[in-house]
Amino acid sequence: MEMKAFTVPLNKNPEIVMNVIPGHFTTSHFHLTHYLDLNDLKTNASLAREVAIELALPYLSTTLVDTIVCMEGTEVIGAYMAEELLQEGTSVVNSGKKIHVVTPTNNINRQLVFQSNMQGLINEQNIILLVSSISSGITVKSALGCLSYYNGKLAGISALFNAFPEESEQEIHSLFTSEDIPGYQTFRPEECEMCKAGHKLDAIILPGGYTKI
Ligand SMILES: [Zn+2]
Repeated sequence: MEMKAFTVPLNKNPEIVMNVIPGHFTTSHFHLTHYLDLNDLKTNASLAREVAIELALPYLSTTLVDTIVCMEGTEVIGAYMAEELLQEGTSVVNSGKKIHVVTPTNNINRQLVFQSNMQGLINEQNIILLVSSISSGITVKSALGCLSYYNGKLAGISALFNAFPEESEQEIHSLFTSEDIPGYQTFRPEECEMCKAGHKLDAIILPGGYTKI
């Protein structure tokens, strides 16, 4: 694997940095030219707070929020995002409210579900869906399916990274896009240009990281 990792700072706040590793990666659905290591942004509390401040901005003065639904290990960011949305201020629409931060679970059929005692936090509630990285869109699609099943009202979608913002059906507020990564591409496995050029796969991308092959 080439492993020449590089970093991409966020223009607005250079403390927020995305670590990028070029290579030939596969998920269960796609082959990708880069692996994005966003773990530090999700697990380092002070960085997660900086990320949350940026992600809360589009909603601060306009959007009522009852629940933040966190996917892909974004719970720490979600908690700080709630704190940011709840701050006191004349133009802050959620001041003095309650915001819950929740994560769906997978049932035995690997569908996303909320257990009976959690469903009240989704039903008829204004919800921000928070995800880590959008490449194929499959995670967002299944999360939106889950929210609509439990009658959640989508108030917005936020992500750390969105590969194809112009192709997204809904507006997605993301910190980074594929435009920040020169040469970023995803392929269906059978159409992968790296496979066609005879390059072996370097690693499998799994929840929380990658495993070298
Ligand atoms: Zn490939």
